[in-house]
Amino acid sequence: MPESPPDALGQDSQISPSACQICGNDAPAIFASKNGYQLYQCQDCHLVYVDPMPSADELAALYNNAYDDTTAGYFAKSEKILRRSRRRLARIRRKVAGGRFLDIGCNGGFTVEAAREHGFEAFGIELDAVSLAYAQDHFPANNYFHGRIEDYPVKNLFDVVYCSEVIEHVADVNGFLSAITRQMKRGAILYLTTPDISHWRTPKNINQWDAFCPPAHCLYFNPSNMTRLLHRHGLRVLRRIWPWKPGIKLYARRAD
Ligand SMILES: [Zn+2]
Repeated sequence: MPESPPDALGQDSQISPSACQICGNDAPAIFASKNGYQLYQCQDCHLVYVDPMPSADELAALYNNAYDDTTAGYFAKSEKILRRSRRRLARIRRKVAGGRFLDIGCNGGFTVEAAREHGFEAFGIELDAVSLAYAQDHFPANNYFHGRIEDYPVKNLFDVVYCSEVIEHVADVNGFLSAITRQMKRGAILYLTTPDISHWRTPKNINQWDAFCPPAHCLYFNPSNMTRLLHRHGLRVLRRIWPWKPGIKLYARRAD
């Protein structure tokens, strides 16, 4: 669904877009443009991606302010969020006997705390300092790191990695998944969620979809290309949960 040719954005038509990070196809179609960013769709695996990707500085500016408007409202619902996290952890706990749990993008620490309550040694990583301070103040029995998984300084060999609504924000998805699998034991479980651009409830007019928000979301997956991507990193999808909302929710296992 082209909205405008690249020339309309002032780009040089001689510069070809980057290849797909999942399948390597280097002839994507123009998909849309929004917020001054151009998006392409891979003609092979159908990944939709921002290109060129936002710079590290643009992303840093985005995440310094990410929760400014929502912090008060979000944390006011803390009891509700904690209850939801506990229900999710109860389901994960049925699949994993225990051990070490890592939440990538742990926000206010609710899921990390729920993991601790379920008997895990619990760790959380978060880019946003305000959210991380909330986690440290309210749930101090856990371990926290301010930064990205790619910069995580220790190798902890986790039994469970929890990554909910984060992967769509990542510019280098292969670097991100390599960093995750380096932290997983053999046989460890990855719980992953992300918006699903192919879901039957995703609006036909993509601009009406609340998850279509470049550059914050710079990658838009479907279940098939996500499975292919995980497979490249030695992760086998064990189970997909069919969500009512346009999202992918799955459990994967690190093969070896
Ligand atoms: Zn592709």
